[in-house]
Amino acid sequence: MVSNLISLMAPPKRGHYDAIIVGARCAGAATAMLLASAGLKVLAIDRKPYGSDTLSTHALMRPAILQLWRWGLLEPLLKAGTPLIETTTFHYGDEAITIPLAAGPDLPGLIAPRRTVLDRILVDAARKAGAEILHEVAVGDLFADTRGRVRGIEIRAAGRAAVRVSADIVVGADGIGSLVAKCVDAQTLRRGAVSAAHVYGYAPVEPGAGYHWYFRDGIAGSFIPTNDGLACIVASVPTGLFDRRFRLGHARARMDVLEALSPALAAQAARAPKDARLQAFRGVPGYIRQPHGPGWALVGDAGFFRDPITSHGISDALRDAESLARAILDGSDAAFSVWQQQRDMIANQILDTTDAIAGFDWTLDDLGERHRRFSAVLKAEVQALAGQPLPIRRTPSAASRPTAHRAPANQDEPPASAGSNPNRNRTGARP
Ligand SMILES: Cc1cc2nc3c(=O)[nH]c(=O)nc-3n(C[C@H](O)[C@H](O)[C@H](O)COP(=O)(O)OP(=O)(O)OC[C@H]3O[C@@H](n4cnc5c(N)ncnc54)[C@H](O)[C@@H]3O)c2cc1C
Repeated sequence: MVSNLISLMAPPKRGHYDAIIVGARCAGAATAMLLASAGLKVLAIDRKPYGSDTLSTHALMRPAILQLWRWGLLEPLLKAGTPLIETTTFHYGDEAITIPLAAGPDLPGLIAPRRTVLDRILVDAARKAGAEILHEVAVGDLFADTRGRVRGIEIRAAGRAAVRVSADIVVGADGIGSLVAKCVDAQTLRRGAVSAAHVYGYAPVEPGAGYHWYFRDGIAGSFIPTNDGLACIVASVPTGLFDRRFRLGHARARMDVLEALSPALAAQAARAPKDARLQAFRGVPGYIRQPHGPGWALVGDAGFFRDPITSHGISDALRDAESLARAILDGSDAAFSVWQQQRDMIANQILDTTDAIAGFDWTLDDLGERHRRFSAVLKAEVQALAGQPLPIRRTPSAASRPTAHRAPANQDEPPASAGSNPNRNRTGARP
């Protein structure tokens, strides 16, 4: 409950920040780390506890690995016992195609860290860079000036006055149900047409195992080695099939799907303790939202969601955290426009190629081609990331701080024209 949280929480240290970030997992903590490293005063707030778990099947694709390596966080993840994954195998019916993953000494393979490990390491790095991070605190609303420009957040508690903290920019890194997106009425630029359900649990695995992706007509499954000697084993089906088949119990229906995919995969899953909990995600069609407007921006799932079947959400979050940080540090409307153009281009490609797989309208004969199209998008993404400089680390002197996209001194100054219609901004009604 917010009321309990606010009474227990350490209050924010300042009344005003350069940036406030709502949500402190892969998108939020990464954005906080990059902005704080560059000298900004940053507050990130998450209603969940530090190091807590969340829905995820953990598989990182190469763009995420590259980002973590560029930020010096790949080594801490490996040191935390996250197994290195050196092969990936696609099982199309009875045919198996194994691909080696190493791409040189810097990128020795892929990893699939538990979110209790990944999100904690990102939060630690953000704190080390100077960001203030509050957990178990919920943001209840945003507030805006009379022109509709977002000016900060409200931390609410029943029966108490809301605590207001202001910022030059409020970043929504608050996931699928984003409060920030709702408050600013962020326009949905595109909606995906399909959704898939994913039901997963953990079972013991031998060291050295690779990723395995299984496909048969209308169903899919994954075997993803993660921390603690466990593999995350996932059954994936179209949402419609989930509604029909999983209604009467997730465990039996999941095992039926795994057995149909591969008896060996089902046998691995059966190694889990009998009372092991399963996690289920019914599916949400993908979307791309307007990612910025006067005084606000969205990053991670808050701005762009694609079905988990291609395991690309964390890659998207880490990529967009950096490109958003670059735009915030530049501060100009032009920088935000360029950021959005680049984000929209890659998000559309990822959504196209993900929906082509999550729609389950493929046959085993054409699925390989769909995977190759997705892989081509990843390759281009990795090339673009590898060529990027890190956001500039600056001394926090007044002269070197960003000027545009910051709160104008006069609260009635016209809002920045970047991207959104202030009339759509619900916070404009609550100056
Ligand atoms: C079933 C499933 C499996 C997945 N598997 C993979 C995978 O294998 N690989 C992959 O790359 N991606 C995967 N994803 C996608 C990935 O989990 C997301 O893309 C990623 O978590 C997005 O990170 P984020 O930081 O944007 O949001 P989130 O991880 O959702 O974090 C948002 C945070 O904001 C906080 N928050 C929300 N509202 C408030 C508020 N009002 N006040 C304070 N805090 C707030 C929440 O507590 C939460 O901690 C999967 C997703 C699902 C659903």
